Amino acid sequence: MSKQPEDLIPELKKYRRVVLGHGPTPIDPLTRLGKDLGIELWTKRDDCNGLAFGGNKVRQLEYYLGPGVDANADTVLITGALQSNFVRLTAAAAAKLGWQAHVQLEERVPSDDQLYRKSGNIFLNNLLGAEISYFPEGEDEAGADKALDDNAEQLKRQGKRPYVIHLGLGSLPYGGLGYIRAAAETYAQIIETGNEPDYVVIPSGSGLTHAGFLVGARAIGWNVPIIGICVRRDHKSQADRIRQRSNELAQMISRPGLITDQDIIVSDKALAPGYGKMNTQVKEAIEKTAQQEAIILDPVYTARTMAGLIDQVRTDAIPQDAKVLFIHTGGNPAIFAYQNAIESFS
Ligand SMILES: *Cc1c(COP(=O)(O)O)cnc(C)c1O
Repeated sequence: MSKQPEDLIPELKKYRRVVLGHGPTPIDPLTRLGKDLGIELWTKRDDCNGLAFGGNKVRQLEYYLGPGVDANADTVLITGALQSNFVRLTAAAAAKLGWQAHVQLEERVPSDDQLYRKSGNIFLNNLLGAEISYFPEGEDEAGADKALDDNAEQLKRQGKRPYVIHLGLGSLPYGGLGYIRAAAETYAQIIETGNEPDYVVIPSGSGLTHAGFLVGARAIGWNVPIIGICVRRDHKSQADRIRQRSNELAQMISRPGLITDQDIIVSDKALAPGYGKMNTQVKEAIEKTAQQEAIILDPVYTARTMAGLIDQVRTDAIPQDAKVLFIHTGGNPAIFAYQNAIESFS
């Protein structure tokens, strides 16, 4: 049997984890797409981790909700974009734990497309029994968190035991522990198969997936370049964010100073015109990956990350014949909410 992540990084045991997903997730070859691009391409299937269509937030929630279980919570509160996968998976975790989820949806992508406003993750939030409220502004993390805290106070007065998931930069990045663990899980798998990648390509949004994977890899002495593809912010602000989050995560596992500036690689070449918006590269990535591999990518995160990977290959930042591991972080339900946007884009 391959090594457990906790054998490789014992400090993870300091943190309470509630198991929500399947693991280890498979690593699959993407033979046809790789051949088309002139590289050897593999994918870590975190879209297949079991909970309500899966995705990277399953691993993050295992560490966010652990302390809530210890505190005997009965209600969880979270804020996110209208089509947030995090919100949907929080609603799913709450259903499984027997808690009530209160989800606050932010208008980050202005749209009156009815599929965007009603289908995909929104439909699933309702089906999973979440209570939904709306928050008007898109780029005010602190304000959105404050609204959650006010709602939690009100719930306390009604005798509930609320637990708030704070995602703003002012709070510790517990979810990133899930990707420290995922890096160790991945390393154990590739050591067993002898198939070590030359590059890892991963989405970089809030940064907890990227920073967590980076800290986990370096903590076990795995020095592979980890390329974060920007899905929300330009490369400068994203690098700052990854620096902050990796430093915090490294400290949380008692390894201060683990990450240097050379470890932090980000590319925003697939980002325009901005978060959640289609572009030619994203459309190409969705179609190629579906038609050559039967793997579904969403326009907000995973297709943008694949578009960033393709750009790295075409500009020789990733050389021909390199072995590349693409981390598939899920987002599958969003494809339905974006159906009109994808089909009408040309
Ligand atoms: C949230 C999300 C990401 C980005 O992860 P961060 O940890 O926020 O950087 C990537 N892919 C999918 C499908 C997501 O839902």
